[in-house]
Amino acid sequence: MNEQKILRNQLFKFIKSNLLNLIIVFLLFGLFMIFLVRRITFSSANMELRENVRLIKKNLRNLESLEIVKEQEEVNEFQEYGILSSINNPKILCLIRDEDGEILSTNASYLSNSAFEDFDFDDEEIDKPYNVLINEDYLYKGITIDISDVTKTTTGYIQVLINIDFEEEMTKIYERIVISSIIFGIGVSVIASIIISRKSLSPVAEMLKKQEEFVQNVSHELRTPLTIIQAKQELLLSDPNAKIVDKLEDISVSLNETKRMTKLTKDLMTLSRGDSKQLEINKEEVEIDQFIENIGKTYKEIITLQEKELILDLNYQKIASIDTNKIYQVIVILLDNAMKYTEPGDKITIRTYLKDGKCVIEMADTGIGINDEAMKHVFERFYRAENSRSRETGGSGLGLSIADMIISKHGGTIKVSHNNPKGTIFTIRLPR
Ligand code: ADP
Repeated sequence: MNEQKILRNQLFKFIKSNLLNLIIVFLLFGLFMIFLVRRITFSSANMELRENVRLIKKNLRNLESLEIVKEQEEVNEFQEYGILSSINNPKILCLIRDEDGEILSTNASYLSNSAFEDFDFDDEEIDKPYNVLINEDYLYKGITIDISDVTKTTTGYIQVLINIDFEEEMTKIYERIVISSIIFGIGVSVIASIIISRKSLSPVAEMLKKQEEFVQNVSHELRTPLTIIQAKQELLLSDPNAKIVDKLEDISVSLNETKRMTKLTKDLMTLSRGDSKQLEINKEEVEIDQFIENIGKTYKEIITLQEKELILDLNYQKIASIDTNKIYQVIVILLDNAMKYTEPGDKITIRTYLKDGKCVIEMADTGIGINDEAMKHVFERFYRAENSRSRETGGSGLGLSIADMIISKHGGTIKVSHNNPKGTIFTIRLPR
């Protein structure tokens, strides 16, 4: 399994456990909300019920001597004495039952006793709230008072009920809202985690891909010179009596490839020092025009030998704070490229000027140029444009990435653009 797959699996596991935690949190939160709403919604019904139970008990105590019997007259008498007279809440229903649980009377004269016939009455449940469904449609919360507990002289029960259809309906609506919100929340979290994980995975995957490519490029770049050196040395060994002068070409090819490897390893070291933030920038104040002129002097001869022209157009006329060794390396990389990718008769121009408070150094050539697609990649490690002759010219595609790294360590930028009518311009902008 390659690294990307391992990474994807790890991430998938991570998302799964995160989602699970999230779902648990959502569910607990939802359950807590439902519990809370139930308590709040039913609390006023509970209070009303208990208040009425208290009132009835008080009335009963006042009528302690009264006897409750089944006869209608007596019941009316019972009512007359005002046991239920204090009940003025239309939501409250009171049923007076005899000791066998038979209904004697209710405070709801509009309802016949038969309306309550098929609902269970449990004379064991005294003074505790319970829910009861009347006529299979109406939900009531009830508390039963055992009259004998209160009056001592009289037997029977008073069942006090409060209608909680509205509260039940409200909590159901609320439960539906909470459940849909939880489902919606979980759905959104799943989608969000997928999007976020994809987004966070892609730069890591990209980095791993680049790392893999980098290792492949390094081995490829090292393999080529090593193969050449090995072949040339085998050739030398196959003819032990030959004189050095006869084998000059083989020896010089081996030497060139060794030099190429040395440069490659040096470049790789520079890049790796830059990556691990070990590349130190030691700035000093330098007269930029003078600095460029000195480099120009060193290269003028060789450029003229190549039948090309080096033009210096130096107008910065100020001091800038730079690491001279590192910026020298950058100018040499650019100048080297300009020489590699130009033909005899071409011009190489180095310009300096001040723009927007920045020190600008331009390296322009009238050479083969770089196409638009390649321009997007020239600063990438090991990138060589297709039409490039860099292999012949000893390039490994690391020069511009080193230049880019050095300039950004100075807090500046380096950009590439087309020169008119042909060729390339590299523009460096450095803070002063
Ligand atoms: P190399 O060592 O191969 O030159 P660089 O990183 O310096 O590597 O450059 C990357 C690629 O950019 C080169 O291979 C070449 O294709 C292109 N390039 C760089 N400078 C120029 C230039 N002045 N003109 C045309 N192409 C260039």
